[in-house]
Amino acid sequence: MYAIVNSDCIGCGACEEICPQVFRMNSYEIAEAYLNPIPQASEESTREAAKNCPVAAIILE
Ligand code: SF4
Repeated sequence: MYAIVNSDCIGCGACEEICPQVFRMNSYEIAEAYLNPIPQASEESTREAAKNCPVAAIILE
């Protein structure tokens, strides 16, 4: 599984809080997925982060 943060991100930080092993805020205060492909052990929390993104900016493939 791969995670992509699209340009709808508003920088709320929720994904980093829920799944810091995959998401972090970059210097523009926008989230990025820095661990791709997602390790199996982190897939569930990655899905949780995507589900909780208020603007649905996390795309999972
Ligand atoms: S939860 Fe969504 S809006 Fe918030 S920082 Fe992550 S990708 Fe951006």
